[in-house]
Amino acid sequence: MIVMKFGGTSVESGDAIARLVRTVRSQLARRPVVVVSALGKTTNRLLDFAEHARRGELYLGSKCLTELQDHHFEVAGQVANGEGLHQLEISLQRSFRDLRVILSEVVDEGREVTLALLDEIASFGERMSSEIVAAALESGGVPSVHLDARQLILTDDRHTHASPLYWESYAKLRRAIPHLCDGRVVVLGGFIGSTKDGVTTTLGRGGSDLTASIVGAGISADEIQIWTDVDGMLTCDPCVLQGGYRLRSLSYQEAAALAGAGAKVLHPDTVTPAIRQRIPLVIRNSRRPAVEGTRIVPTIPLCSNPVKAIACKADVTVLEIQPRDERDPAELAAALGEMCERYGMPAEFLCHNEGTIFLAFKSSTRYQNLPIEVAGCVEARLHTQSSILTLVGEGIDGSPEIAARSLAALKQIPATVLSGCRSKLAVSLMVPTTEMRRSVEILHREFFQQIDPMVFAESQDLEPGSAQPVSILTEAGDRAARTARRFRSFRTVCQN
Ligand code: ADP
Ligand code: ASP
Ligand code: MG
Repeated sequence: MIVMKFGGTSVESGDAIARLVRTVRSQLARRPVVVVSALGKTTNRLLDFAEHARRGELYLGSKCLTELQDHHFEVAGQVANGEGLHQLEISLQRSFRDLRVILSEVVDEGREVTLALLDEIASFGERMSSEIVAAALESGGVPSVHLDARQLILTDDRHTHASPLYWESYAKLRRAIPHLCDGRVVVLGGFIGSTKDGVTTTLGRGGSDLTASIVGAGISADEIQIWTDVDGMLTCDPCVLQGGYRLRSLSYQEAAALAGAGAKVLHPDTVTPAIRQRIPLVIRNSRRPAVEGTRIVPTIPLCSNPVKAIACKADVTVLEIQPRDERDPAELAAALGEMCERYGMPAEFLCHNEGTIFLAFKSSTRYQNLPIEVAGCVEARLHTQSSILTLVGEGIDGSPEIAARSLAALKQIPATVLSGCRSKLAVSLMVPTTEMRRSVEILHREFFQQIDPMVFAESQDLEPGSAQPVSILTEAGDRAARTARRFRSFRTVCQN
């Protein structure tokens, strides 16, 4: 059995779902279980809807629902037919009726929009998309069965970012799925779960990747495929810098470090369930199934490049903290991390370097409310409008050389090394957000001048309609860079 997870852009339209059906059909012999995200930007729209309801904006809330409803019915009509379509339309109708009831309860009767209600509202995205995809498979001649993921993925009750109860979920998945897979494709929504009491929860934004991985571990899948809108894990986010290389393979640890440092092509916890059973995770482009993608596996080939990729987190505020007493900075950093969790403001980044602790939050966080003094610290400096760039690669191996090389390359940019000690395979730097793109471009040039062709592949341009990268190179410069890169890879091959 394998798990095939399709993200928002891979189910955004009738055409995208038709591609999904073809891709699933091509792998039927491997007994796929399909996990899907909500259609396109549906989760954002549902959260906008919740905000309109909270503000009492009946007209805007209702307009939001009408637009979502039209889109879901349009896509359903494009991908399903016959009795399947009829049943699907009844179910979609019921979902939108329930959402309208919520709107009126909030606006007319003063029901509070709690985090639990937010989860309830957001869950409709994956509940509806999974029904649409199951019907599309049936209509495309692929027998399928739809399961409600909330019955299978159990979580704690930390609404909007619940943690899975792994063992309980594995047991349920193992019991429910394998016997259904004979001759049928099981389809379920990602991102959603429920507490043991049956209250709907969600796993945090981007959480469908994590669902796929939990399902994979639960059924001991041979492979977990993450189908998305890029060719695989690239050496940098294509929305920040175009023209990066595709990684052919990555270790679990490298993938987890990149995801945690901002490479949102994977939810940061995705790797965790796969590791114990050494299940390979493969990132693939749903628009270009011919591209092999990136394999995330336990052992990877030796690589002559120490850095595999650069991840970034834009727009964070970094607190640079000096401990007041002689306490161990590692202990203090851990205590600060726990405190942030307790206050519901998990740190975006936390490390200590030569006695200084760096603690970063999304700029929108109300970090001022945290009792940092109480935790035994003196807040030294606040760096607003900063970005954190993280270089990841097993070849870094704790060496200070990569940090020194980065600082030398970034000489015209006020950059600070945050870590080096935090992890043996990552080095993080802080730069002003206004300099983030330039910094990524400089570091990319510095560390990927020569590439190891066993590990990196040329990643071609994205097709129109998929994620639109914001180029920071001119077209002519881009062409020149590509030619130079081809020449360099050729040289690398010759040198080897
Ligand atoms: P999905 O909806 O399929 O889950 P996401 O939007 O969550 O897709 O993740 C894919 C996006 O991740 C890409 O469009 C890209 O902008 C972003 N991304 C960030 N860093 C990287 C990276 N290093 N390699 C590839 N994609 C990246
Ligand atoms: N639909 C959810 C989100 O947009 C989960 C996911 O796509 O992975 O965050
Ligand atoms: Mg995602």
